[in-house]
Amino acid sequence: MLHIMALPGIEERIAWAENQFSSCKELCFADSKLSELLRLFRGARTLSQSQMERCGIVEICRRCEMEGGGSCCGAGIEDRYDEWLLLVNLLLGVKLPRQRWKDDSCFFLGPEGCKLVARHAICINYLCKEVIDQVDAEQIARLREKEGEELELLFFICERVKKIVKECGTRKQKGR
Ligand code: SF4
Ligand code: SF4
Repeated sequence: MLHIMALPGIEERIAWAENQFSSCKELCFADSKLSELLRLFRGARTLSQSQMERCGIVEICRRCEMEGGGSCCGAGIEDRYDEWLLLVNLLLGVKLPRQRWKDDSCFFLGPEGCKLVARHAICINYLCKEVIDQVDAEQIARLREKEGEELELLFFICERVKKIVKECGTRKQKGR
């Protein structure tokens, strides 16, 4: 008989990430490669955000939230986030929420929008039809380029963090 392992709930994944953060943060912050990747990621994220503002997406989404009441950040999207991406958010200074703000919204949505800095590809890449129809295709292509850099850096950050956490566990076992 096939047993399917259920994914731990979002609260458990957050608790895991917070535990790892408190035991491994010194090792993470002392790692020059990781520090450099985090620095580059912050820069890439700022550039994507500026491009979103420049091409009017921020304003379109703001209006959609205010007037249409329709955010695309629905409940359940948080299940795309594994514990590593949550840990990366902690390393980037994010305070992860304790509870859902709105029943029908993603766990990470707050009154000011998304609370995360490092987001899943599905969140980074998503643009609804309204946005696609209103924004110049060339501007969207420029945004995609910047988002690609953000995603690539996130991949390398997660890989580096996994190595450091493993090393952290080995050191703990040896009592170092
Ligand atoms: S992407 Fe589309 S649905 Fe989502 S907030 Fe922006 S305008 Fe609204
Ligand atoms: S952008 Fe943030 S709030 Fe929206 S679905 Fe993604 S993680 Fe959730």
